Amino acid sequence: TAVGRNKAEALGERLQADFVHLNVEYRACDLHQLIAQNGDLLAVADMIVAATGNWVAESALNRWHVRQGRGRPIVYGWTEAHACAGHAVAIGQGGGCLQCHIGRTGAPELTAVEWPDGGDTAREEPACGAHYQPYGPVELAYVNAMIAEVALDCLLDPPAQSFSRVFVASARRIVSLGGQLTEGWRSAFGEVEEGVRTVDRPWPSVSCAACGPEHLDEAA
Ligand SMILES: [Zn+2]
Repeated sequence: TAVGRNKAEALGERLQADFVHLNVEYRACDLHQLIAQNGDLLAVADMIVAATGNWVAESALNRWHVRQGRGRPIVYGWTEAHACAGHAVAIGQGGGCLQCHIGRTGAPELTAVEWPDGGDTAREEPACGAHYQPYGPVELAYVNAMIAEVALDCLLDPPAQSFSRVFVASARRIVSLGGQLTEGWRSAFGEVEEGVRTVDRPWPSVSCAACGPEHLDEAA
């Protein structure tokens, strides 16, 4: 119903229609603009959920969060290929910042599933420049529910320490799509047996380029 429309505007209107007792606002701009022009709006939020899947945007949000002293939590969420795994990272007042366990180009330290044949995860639509990954709302529902659960946890009880929650699909589905668990995942958590699995893991500070002492001196 919203093809061709601005996503923020269309989603804002949809949420307002679904939840008439709320006052839903939207800003049709990118995150850099929002930070520069509406930083006060972000600063008074009880919690921020960031699900842009865009490292440039989210690393800028993370740096803003560090400058602000991380008074309120931010929950970042993303999915792996084929929605076979999903990640939520809650950044609290203590522990790591988002960038502590994500490389400079946006590659997370831990991925759960790898694709030995290269993955071929992006298909191209005929006669169209669009790429898509073949998965649907059923697979994605697990990831969305897990990220929403972390968001509710953080809203009700803001975390003193940053942490991450990872969802991994059943071995049956991963194997049927040609994937396998990464060495990093198996050495930390072992094989996934039947059914789905969710684990919590710490997200400690490593004083990265975004939150380390050099950066804080610079900010001061
Ligand atoms: Zn950091």
